[in-house]
Amino acid sequence: MTANKSLLILPGDGIGPEVMRQVRRVIDWMAKRRSVSFDVTEGLVGGAAYEAHGTPLKDETMADALSADAVLLGAVGGPKWDQLPYDKRPERGLLRLRKEMDLFANLRPAVVYPGLVDASALKPELVRDLDILIVRELTGGVYFGEPRGITTLPDGQRRGVNTQVYTTNEIIRVAKVAFELARKRQSRLHSVEKANVMESGVLWREEVQKLHDSDYTDVQLEHMYADNCAMQLVRQPKQFDVIVTDNLFGDILSDCAAMLTGSLGMLPSASFGAPDASGRRKAMYEPVHGSAPDIAGRDVANPLATILSFAMMLRYSFDMDEDADLIEKAVKTVLASGIRTGDIMGPNTARVSCSTMGETLVRELDKMA
Ligand code: ATP
Ligand code: MG
Repeated sequence: MTANKSLLILPGDGIGPEVMRQVRRVIDWMAKRRSVSFDVTEGLVGGAAYEAHGTPLKDETMADALSADAVLLGAVGGPKWDQLPYDKRPERGLLRLRKEMDLFANLRPAVVYPGLVDASALKPELVRDLDILIVRELTGGVYFGEPRGITTLPDGQRRGVNTQVYTTNEIIRVAKVAFELARKRQSRLHSVEKANVMESGVLWREEVQKLHDSDYTDVQLEHMYADNCAMQLVRQPKQFDVIVTDNLFGDILSDCAAMLTGSLGMLPSASFGAPDASGRRKAMYEPVHGSAPDIAGRDVANPLATILSFAMMLRYSFDMDEDADLIEKAVKTVLASGIRTGDIMGPNTARVSCSTMGETLVRELDKMA
């Protein structure tokens, strides 16, 4: 067995626990067939933690997250907890994790799988084999900038203010993540802002260009205005490899890119913090979808977004590219064979449960390894 890697699993609420059980199947398979074992701790977050301990995230769980090599999260929240005071809400647990782990870079791949081309809002020829990665700055920008607030003016009008602020360090650390990722892919990076109308955008462009010129001349860098990027994502999405952008533009553009794939149940994500002395980044992996209370507990959810999040973890936190490739290939093969959960049904496909999807995937892994 290779050295143990510590992994904190937080299934959370709603469909979180059922999709996470399918990840456990993959972990068991890796132990048996690939001789890889993880030191897995499981914890509570969100509504589940509130029910057990009266708080959406215990200090002990927070400490586990900070010491783990990686965190894998299901989803949090549900109507049952919507009326709780702000501090007790499930989402607070997730926000605390992100804040204390200082996860400033959010990665969202948009990949179109064979057989799911028709799920896209675009024409098949525009999205077939699409594979792009959006890196969104997550802890700065207009969502956090000061001053902010609503005031009343002398004439009785009200005035709402937010401030877009970026410092050089905030720009450089997220751009570094994006350049490194581009290097692992096609070595092409689009940096997106609105330098034509925003000072923070001017700074963003200058700093990304400087970083490129000093450390990443092997990566092809292009600057693009955010409005043009939105248009290009819909017009010709395959021109992109990696996109790096700020918090607000990233929020919008990553949702836009997600809809190019058309299937919420297929989308993984990762969030990175700063590297420690050994170069290892704090990281949390989670599906893009939420807790989907409408289908929770019925074993019908699509577990692939969470399984693909686990594959990202293997690739980016543990340098286990070969295993990540295996899982992603198995997902492709299973989908191409027409096995589908309810959310991604198409013509000539067979509807299976969440657990059957997990079983089928592991059987496919067995055949491939
Ligand atoms: P959040 O507020 O946490 O983002 P949400 O309520 O906006 O959550 P989701 O929980 O992601 O959104 O669910 C939106 C819809 O998509 C739900 O109605 C659900 O049925 C469907 N859905 C989400 N995830 C999956 C999945 N993994 N498999 C099948 N259907 C899903
Ligand atoms: Mg929502």
